[in-house]
Amino acid sequence: MKQRVISFYYTLTDAAGKVLDSSKDGEAFSFIEGTGQIIPGLEKQLMELKIGDKKKINVPAAEAYGRRDESRVIKVPRQELPSQDVKLGERFKGGSEDDAPLFVVTQLGETEVTFDGNHPLADIDLTFDVELTEVREATADELSHGHAHGTHGHSH
Ligand code: ZN
Repeated sequence: MKQRVISFYYTLTDAAGKVLDSSKDGEAFSFIEGTGQIIPGLEKQLMELKIGDKKKINVPAAEAYGRRDESRVIKVPRQELPSQDVKLGERFKGGSEDDAPLFVVTQLGETEVTFDGNHPLADIDLTFDVELTEVREATADELSHGHAHGTHGHSH
């Protein structure tokens, strides 16, 4: 089966109804199915919708950004840091790969600094209000680039 490009509007809220994210600038978000571009729990349910369908999709944390893993919280002695000029909330990439996890500074101690490598949405049950706007076959270009092109996708 050919992979498809799926486009949808979304508003993402947590269990308390706080808006965490939404599709930007009135544009739908597009992704190629089966490429891991969106969280699996959301993709699975989007696949069941038809163009024009609106749905509230609940994705439990385990199918979204997972559970917090305390082993991803690390304390680094200040003397091992390349710079002493670190601020709370500052983010650092934990490697040079594109998908390297981000570490956020969560505590500034006298002798050590705490970095948290958990995803900010870990442990959060998510609700997506979605509207499916387009489903079409992915082009050869899109498949070789690994992302969607066109009005709702990536432009070069
Ligand atoms: Zn491209």
